[in-house]
Amino acid sequence: MIQRQHLLALTGPELVSFIGELGEPAFRARQVFAALHHRRLRSFEEMTDLPKELRAKLDSVATPSTLNIESRYLSADGTRRYLMKTHDGLPVETVFIPEERRDTICFSSQSGCPLQCSFCLTAQLGLLRSLTPGEIVEQVIVALNDAYGVGQKPQHGTNLVGMGAGEPFLAFESLMKALSIIADPNGLHILPNRVTVSTAGIVPRIRELATVSERPHLAVSLGAPTDEQRNVLMPINRKWPLAELLGACKEFERSLKRGERFTFEYVMLRDVNDSDEHARQLANLLNRHELRVKVNLIPHNAAEPLPYHPSSRRRVESFKSILEAKGLPAFVRRPRGQDIFAACGQLAARREANPAQV
Ligand code: SAH
Repeated sequence: MIQRQHLLALTGPELVSFIGELGEPAFRARQVFAALHHRRLRSFEEMTDLPKELRAKLDSVATPSTLNIESRYLSADGTRRYLMKTHDGLPVETVFIPEERRDTICFSSQSGCPLQCSFCLTAQLGLLRSLTPGEIVEQVIVALNDAYGVGQKPQHGTNLVGMGAGEPFLAFESLMKALSIIADPNGLHILPNRVTVSTAGIVPRIRELATVSERPHLAVSLGAPTDEQRNVLMPINRKWPLAELLGACKEFERSLKRGERFTFEYVMLRDVNDSDEHARQLANLLNRHELRVKVNLIPHNAAEPLPYHPSSRRRVESFKSILEAKGLPAFVRRPRGQDIFAACGQLAARREANPAQV
């Protein structure tokens, strides 16, 4: 069987040529684009403003949705997790995080992940495959429809974070294309300045992003202040050690424009990387590279069967004040959706019986 074209993978101009090849005028393409991205319809039947014959014709060569929603979990704190399957049966997880002034959708860039970070549950899946641009766009549509109703205008601003399963910079092309589709003013209209993408340190892509003008904000996961420890916790460090990673970060920092953010993330593992000495090493490392960027501290989220525990509150505060005393602004990330395995590092297609499943 020839695979049908996933329409969410096409930019506006690409959709015009696709529909043109079916012998249809450009205004039909604009109608379809609005139906997909503005009205967020996931089936051709619902696109009742299109002639029936056109819907049938489209249905024979294309599809408006490919992800199958398997389960939906609702946390006590309002966070929602969606477990979906791709057309080839692979898990994709997306998290919707409501906040007072804005909502955040955390999307996945890969099914599973090839980077064996020892503290992250997703790593245990290994890499299944990178997601396509359409599969990234579709996650946002599913989450918005569920949170607000099909096609309903979001009540708050929507931020996106590429911090779900996978390494976004190993799905770089898909990611960048998805973000350009998501930014379209005739569709979702979520601009790159509302998007943050997190990388474990794929150095060539950090350098590449430094040259892109319309780009998302960058976050880089550090996890350890020395090569010795980072090699163990985040084995990608053996390929691109800290000196190279921070060199690329410095280059990125030099390319920052007004209003752009760049952060480091540091997962805090009790009695592993959370001592005052680790804090001093981290601060000295960043200061040596003249990187005075914000550090987000993330207490570890429980991820059975991994042998780690979150640092105590006191430990986190002490770590934070050492960074601050050395001139580095530091913030503690509040975990969201832990009870439904939706927090950082917990995405691994879990489907235990859960009372909050709806
Ligand atoms: N692969 C990318 C994005 C996904 S992980 C990256 O590594 O940046 C998003 C963040 O969650 C990273 O900063 C990662 O270090 C952190 N993380 C992973 N497992 C975690 C866990 N169990 N608890 C807390 N944070 C975790």
